[in-house]
Amino acid sequence: MSAPESGIDTAGDVERRVLDYVDAHADEALEFFRSLVRIRSTDPPGDVREMADACAAFGRGLGMEVEQHEPAPGKVSNVLRLRGSGGGPTFLLNSHLDTFPASDPTAWRHPPFGAEVHDGKVWGVGTRDMKAGLSAAMLAVQAVVATGTRLRGDIVLTQTADHIKGGGVLGLKYLVDERLVTADFGIYTESNPPLAIELASRGMLRFEITLTGFAKHTKYKVEHSESGQPVNAILKAAKLTIALEAMAFTNWSPHAFVKGPPVISVNRIAGGFSDTLIADRCTLVADCRYLPGQDPDNVMADVQGVLDSLAREDPEFRATLKVLLHGEASQVGADTPLVETLQGAIQTVIGRRVPLGGAGSTSDMRFLINDGGIPMVKFVFPSSETGTNEFESIEDFLNTLRVYALMLVRVLG
Ligand SMILES: [Zn+2]
Repeated sequence: MSAPESGIDTAGDVERRVLDYVDAHADEALEFFRSLVRIRSTDPPGDVREMADACAAFGRGLGMEVEQHEPAPGKVSNVLRLRGSGGGPTFLLNSHLDTFPASDPTAWRHPPFGAEVHDGKVWGVGTRDMKAGLSAAMLAVQAVVATGTRLRGDIVLTQTADHIKGGGVLGLKYLVDERLVTADFGIYTESNPPLAIELASRGMLRFEITLTGFAKHTKYKVEHSESGQPVNAILKAAKLTIALEAMAFTNWSPHAFVKGPPVISVNRIAGGFSDTLIADRCTLVADCRYLPGQDPDNVMADVQGVLDSLAREDPEFRATLKVLLHGEASQVGADTPLVETLQGAIQTVIGRRVPLGGAGSTSDMRFLINDGGIPMVKFVFPSSETGTNEFESIEDFLNTLRVYALMLVRVLG
């Protein structure tokens, strides 16, 4: 396309101005990111009021419409909106406000809530997961507003509570169920190393399995009991644990972006009531992560099949299966137009495209994709994993900000 008459900006001019703004204000952007890391929003306790208020104040300062929703005390989620001039789509940047706890502070190289900068990295709880993405989303809006860039479409930022322990039930799920968030597509502002656009997340089925035995004194292992021989529920649970570890799932095929087969692990066990009497009950909790595209009914049938086969071999094996929690898998197709637009923005910022990937964990992004009908991908430049010595490099943080700012201009301009 030829350049328009002088005085009218080309799309390239607008993008350059927004990116120049980010470069010129990188120090302030970094300070804002660090200020959010210093606000504790760990779960437990899960009260994110201070974080939500800090983000709401920043949004108001940009002229955004601000809503706060608090379905339970301290579980505050923000919906911030910058209205466009009309005729464009609505683009969502979704972030969570809470973080994991700090574990043992003495195990950290730098104070976990200090947001100190060392070696070009910001260190602390919730830096990569996910205050880098959260602040980059707001700073991208700032770059648009401060440069006077006019967009046709609306920008919506959701900043949610209850992600870490509640799985989003009183946060993102609440916003979707109450129809407080709608958009045409969006980015979930975190992803895990290695660098990739995450298109898919595993589903989760959490099972509680109770084994029933028969309680008698230990001596009745070898002596006759008139009322019946003991059956040790702990022993049955041990058998079951080994069988679940070894089980093979049926009706699944490898996923293009989520690595590995479906998996199950027994992560908790509790049994027995006496030092002297043989255990008549043992309960275990097994966590299963299945693949996008896999039918959860089949997963349940496979696990029940393990119980049935143990019961066939051992008439004393009595187990009941209960589903404690189900989190659906979610995915969008690699051909979703959003993916190509995002690759284009990434290419502009770092000079290359990045791989497509998937998450081994289960994401509350499923509420947006499956229930809200909003195509979403996860993307940041992720410097580190969650947990002790978490950090985000300044370069990764600023590149994330640049990509988000470009996306706003390209998608909504
Ligand atoms: Zn996270």
